[in-house]
Amino acid sequence: MSEPQKKRRRRRLKAPREEIAWFPVIDPDLCNSCSSCYDYCPKDVFSSAAVEDGLKRRPKMTVANPYNCIVLCSACMKVCAAEAISFPPRDDFEHYVDYLD
Ligand code: SF4
Ligand code: SF4
Repeated sequence: MSEPQKKRRRRRLKAPREEIAWFPVIDPDLCNSCSSCYDYCPKDVFSSAAVEDGLKRRPKMTVANPYNCIVLCSACMKVCAAEAISFPPRDDFEHYVDYLD
């Protein structure tokens, strides 16, 4: 990684995590099943779909644990060369986060 790691600010969510709909969405038409997002995310958000009998290609990636996603993180978008990952508008979610430092 060429960029220095940014120090993560301490934060507090202002609502229960399950009430905050911030998580990645994968466009299955664009996803090429490369697993880069799976390898990159430290929060176990992604999982491959179940292998179907007779399927010749790898199954598509899915968002298996959406509420594990860190609110306002969108780092995995950058590792998806297929541009299959998207997030909702960040400005709509800023009000859910209090920064403590
Ligand atoms: S990085 Fe993108 S293309 Fe690769 S598995 Fe994840 S969503 Fe699919
Ligand atoms: S935004 Fe961050 S925490 Fe959420 S799925 Fe992507 S890498 Fe994981």
